[in-house]
Formats: sequence, structure tokens, C-alpha cells
Amino acid sequence: MSLDQPTSIAPPALRKPQGEWAVPPNLRDYDDARRTFTWTDAARALDGSPGGGRNIAHEAVDRHAASARAGQDALRFLHRDGRRTALTYAALARATRKFAHVLTGLGVPAGSTVFVLADRIPELYVAALGTLRHGSVFSPLFSAFGPEPIRSRVTLGEGRVLVTTVALYKAKVMAQRAELPSLEHVLLVGTPEEVAALPGTHDLRALLAAAPDHPVLAPTTADSLALLHFTSGTTGRPKGAMHVHGAIVAHLATGRLALDLQDGDVFWCTADPGWVTGTSYGIIAPLAAGVTCLVDEGDFEPERWYRLLAQERVTVWYTAPTAIRLLVRAGAELARAHDLSALRFVASVGEPLNADAVVWGQEAFGQPIHDNWWQTETGGIMIANYRAMDVRPGSMGKPLPGVDAAIVERTNDEQVRVLDAPDAQGELALRAGWPSMFRGYLHDEERYRRCFADGWYLTGDLARRDADGYFWFVGRADDVIKSSGHLIGPFEVESTLLEHPAVAEAAVIGVPDPVAGELVKAYVVAKPGQAADDALAATIRGFARQRFGAAVAPKSITFVPRLPRTRSGKILRRLLKARELGLPEGDLSTLEEPAPPPAGGEHTP
Ligand code: ATP
Ligand code: MG
Repeated sequence: MSLDQPTSIAPPALRKPQGEWAVPPNLRDYDDARRTFTWTDAARALDGSPGGGRNIAHEAVDRHAASARAGQDALRFLHRDGRRTALTYAALARATRKFAHVLTGLGVPAGSTVFVLADRIPELYVAALGTLRHGSVFSPLFSAFGPEPIRSRVTLGEGRVLVTTVALYKAKVMAQRAELPSLEHVLLVGTPEEVAALPGTHDLRALLAAAPDHPVLAPTTADSLALLHFTSGTTGRPKGAMHVHGAIVAHLATGRLALDLQDGDVFWCTADPGWVTGTSYGIIAPLAAGVTCLVDEGDFEPERWYRLLAQERVTVWYTAPTAIRLLVRAGAELARAHDLSALRFVASVGEPLNADAVVWGQEAFGQPIHDNWWQTETGGIMIANYRAMDVRPGSMGKPLPGVDAAIVERTNDEQVRVLDAPDAQGELALRAGWPSMFRGYLHDEERYRRCFADGWYLTGDLARRDADGYFWFVGRADDVIKSSGHLIGPFEVESTLLEHPAVAEAAVIGVPDPVAGELVKAYVVAKPGQAADDALAATIRGFARQRFGAAVAPKSITFVPRLPRTRSGKILRRLLKARELGLPEGDLSTLEEPAPPPAGGEHTP
């Protein structure tokens, strides 16, 4: 299958300065880096466990705790109540050793699944790395999940241990504890009195205080299971993607090459560790790189975020399109009113980033927003815009050195055909074998197998590659629209709708039509102060027709107060479609509540 040629006009490339850098980028010449990079070399940037093998906790914590970095802040916490605390690499080593000893003391065998349900509090980070040190599998649960998504994940993952807070336990777990037979230990963060009042639980802080802190590290190898991450559930029931300790080779390499992490950096990844971005880049990659990682417990608020960037002198910032679009709405002046002179690199992931937002970065931060692409399954960034490479606004950039990406079409179950022609559109595929590739879907071997053909991992996303090797996101394979012989990717139509001054958000689906096959339908959130009426709908339709022609432009536009999104910020087009057609709504465990989105703190790739 190949899609129609794109019809919208991309803004010109944003050139990067060459030669003069105050802080030279890690990756200066993309083509050269691609030629010389090997994963074997990348692995040499790490230590290996003292007894041989590989363990994320050793590489991310112990290696630095035993070096001149021991006294440097590893994690700096900005608590909801305004307190600012930190754990140095040495303190993080001690705390995570204690956590591993706590697990051992409880009789938890290595290889157990430890779920953590918590806001971005220090115990979450200690539990994550302590679990890995113990040789068990860390699986984060997003703290805003209701009881059902928690129950289904803990059951599917056969969770033996749950780390959570008194408040979250009471609100979401206690009443269904009997339905979670695998759960042997619940470790609570709270006051001793609060915990004592809850039967069948342990006081985590008391256990940590009493535990020894002598070195401990499980004899894991690069292939030992380390992480269980559930996908966002955008296209259906969330899948449990399994990752191994060896993934840290990719976390570190991508942190350095795609995010330009360097010694002395203060790095802020706004994603919640409940999703894979918040673990791969909110914990593992920055610690592996030995930088200081900022953890903000609070929610998105433009003024506060800018204040935080300025006060903490953040140098590298990784956030999400939903947050960026809200910042665009708040205006570039607000950004410029703060001293963001320390900010060297801004990147985004999670959803397509429209070209306008990329260019807006230039106005607000003196640099474009660098979009990059990956998935829960890939474990780390696969396609990126790099600090030293010209940016084509609207493009995801180019594959990481060490990653081979191609546009393919499946010819049968076992084979694919690579579409080499420039701008040919098809499924985005990655040559299997990079270190952070997932090693299975939990209890769904068949589905895992179906993701691979001919040595390629098929991503389920549609894309195209231009003549210069830049990749452009077209849409998810499930969302593509077939109308009168045209194949239409929703993202391109949505991006164009977003260029209309009255449009705040847009989502596009195909609805069945006896003549055309499908017709393009758009759901639009109007900007505040705009009358969302028939006249505006007609104006927007006319605008889209001018840009796209009648075949691709939406035939109908419905105004809605908000778009249904996953908690990680992705538009749930399948829900719009199900509602449009009166079909069952399917798995809604990750649907965001109808409250306004606390966007930014929750994103995934
Ligand atoms: P599910 O697999 O359960 O449907 P999901 O695919 O949304 O959920 P994630 O792994 O969190 O779960 O998200 C990865 C997906 O997000 C990608 O496959 C892609 O569709 C989208 N995505 C991520 N980054 C980008 C980007 N930079 N541009 C466009 N799309 C992106
Ligand atoms: Mg997916």
C-alpha cells in the first residue's frame, strides 16, 4: 500500500549554525556518526557489573557513586508543597541498596514483578532502581489510574509487590485487594500511624530506615528482564511490553546523541514514570549519563514551568506536543519574560508535532523544538532531530546512528517489500536488534511474533522518507482513511486545520460512505472566544479545501469542547469513530477524565 503524495506546503528548513558552538554538541556530523557508530562501542561507555553481566542500577547509580560524581545531585525533587530536596548519586546508591535489602528481607525472590503506583515522589525512583538492583522487574502504574486499570495490570503482570502511598492505596487498591491474589506485599509511604491502621501492609519508610545499606547487585545479564511497560492504549487494549537490562546501552546512547546530554547538565523530562518516557528518559538515560535530573511533582502550568526552567537553570528539556501547544497558546512573550539562557536543547515526543509549533520554538527559545519519535516497544528514541542537524519543521528527523529505519509494505505474513523511492509512504519499520528493543508482549507471544517480518520490526505507524532521508509521520496504520481511492493520513489534515486561526485542536477520522468508501470528518476544538457555529465550520472547510483540494479536505466538521485523549496525551480517534458509528467503545482504561488536561506531566513516546 502506498499513500497519496502530500499536498500541504512545509515551511522551509531551519538551518543550524555550523562551527561556532558555545557548548559543542555530542553529535556534530550526522552522516559521520552513522558511518562510525556501533552498538558494541556504545556498550563500552558503560561499566558492566563488577561480577560480569549487566544491571541498570549499577550503570545508572553505582558507577557514578564510586566516582567523583558521588556528591553530585542525581535527582532533584520539586515537591508539591514547595520543598526542594535532592538525592546525590551516593545517597541514591544507599537508598536503592536498602530497597533491595527490604525486598530480600521480605523473602521476595529475584525475577518478581514490583509495581509502583505513586506520584513523582522520591520513593518511586528509589523503588524503581532498587527493584532493578534486586533483579526484579519494575512496572510503573500511572498514579491517576482508577482501580480497574490497576487491577488488570497487576493481574496480568502477576505483581508480587506493590509500592504505593497510603492515600492511593485507600482510594484505589484496598477495596479490591482480595481480587489481587498474586500480591504478597504492599509497601506504603505514609506516617507510621496511617500505615499501622491498614492491615496487610508494610511501612516502607520504616523498612528502609531499618535495612542495611551494604552493596548488593543481582547477577543479571543484558538479556535479563528489567522493565514491564504498558502501552498507552491508543489503538486498543494496552499491551505489556517487556524490556531487558541491556536496554540501558540504548538509553545512554540516545540520551547523548538525540538529547545531547553532557556533563554538568540539568535535565528535565516532564513525562511521568507511569509511562515509558518517564522511565527511559526521566530515570535511566539521564542517570546513566551522570547528569542531574529534575523531578517536578506538580502539574502543568505555563508560568510555573517557565519559572522552573529559569530558576533551576535547566539545560536540556524533553517535553510533549500537548504541553507545547498549550505554551504556544500562552504566547512566546511569556517564555521571553524568563531567563532561559541556560536552555541549550528542547525536544518533544509523544504525538506528531505540527510544523508551526516547531517554528514557534525559535521565537520563544531561540531554537526550534526538536521532535523525536519512538514507542513503548522500542524502549528508546529511534528517529530524531539532532542539535547540529538542520530541522525540517513537521518532520521527525532521521534515525539514530545504529538504527536502520525504512518504509515498507507487507507482502505476506513473513515478508515485506522496502519502498525505496523518495516520499513513498508505507509502514515505518526498524531493522530488529537494537539494545532496547522489547523482548515480548506479556502473555501474547503470537502478537509479538506478528510484529516482525524479514528481520524488520513493523511499528504500526505510517510514514514517508523524503529524498534527503528525513522521516515524516503520516498516521497510525489503524487511523488511515480511504476516500474515493485516496489514502489519507489524519495527521496532515489535522496539522493544516491547526493552521487556521480559530482552531485550537483537531482530530480527523474516516466515516463510511456508500460512494466514497470513507469520508473525512473532523472534530475541532475552537479557540476561546470563537463562535463555534455553522459559519465557522464552513470557513474552516473552505480553508482546508484550498490547501488540500476537495478529495482530502474534511467533508464535515463537528465542534467539540475537548478531544478524547489517553492519559498520556494521545488523541483517541478510535473512540471518536466508535461514537460516530454507535459501536462499542472498547478499552477505555487509559481515557483521560473529562477534567481539563494536566498535560505535559504524563506523556509517553
Ligand atoms: P497502543 O500501542 O496501546 O495503541 P500507543 O501506541 O499510543 O498505544 P505508546 O507506545 O505510548 O503507545 O506511543 C507510541 C506511539 O505514539 C507511536 O507509535 C506513534 O504513533 C506516536 N508517536 C510518538 N512519538 C511521535 C512523534 N514524534 N510523532 C508522531 N507520532 C508519535
Ligand atoms: Mg503503539
